[in-house]
Amino acid sequence: MKRIAVFPGSFDPITKGHESIIRRAIPLFDKIIVAIGVNAEKSGFFSVEKRKQWLVKVFENDPTVSVDIYSGLTVDYCKANNINYILRGLRTSADFEFERSIGQVNKKMYPSIETVFLLTTPEHTALNSSIVRDIIRHGGDARSFVPDGVNFKD
Ligand code: ADP
Repeated sequence: MKRIAVFPGSFDPITKGHESIIRRAIPLFDKIIVAIGVNAEKSGFFSVEKRKQWLVKVFENDPTVSVDIYSGLTVDYCKANNINYILRGLRTSADFEFERSIGQVNKKMYPSIETVFLLTTPEHTALNSSIVRDIIRHGGDARSFVPDGVNFKD
């Protein structure tokens, strides 16, 4: 059985923290789908198309990484796409508590799914998309926090 993982998130925008988790997971899985979760009530800061375009660019040379957009429950997306692993990054104990309940509920809803966690590298622990959005909103330079392929002037 092929090991297919989904890395679900908002990626609004992708940061170096996300990129690091995905790159470290490449050797672990046959295929990784980076899936942008969309919610009809929340439009996000960057458009979904723009977020997808940046993700595609960042992983353009990584043949086992693909990018998709989904709505609804992550486990339903997994069932529909033969995904057997959910990949998540853990930064802090707060992340752990949040992820623990989601992971346990997902397992209850879809018993054959396994959630796999990678610990964030220390240099990325303080980083999140909301800090990057704040920097941009206030006219700061966020380039050092996002992967090389991400150009906010695109
Ligand atoms: P959410 O939509 O749940 O807020 P994000 O889009 O921020 O999620 O992130 C998706 C995944 O990336 C989560 O597993 C999260 O823990 C992980 N992640 C976010 N920021 C970082 C970071 N700086 N370093 C490592 N992992 C991260």
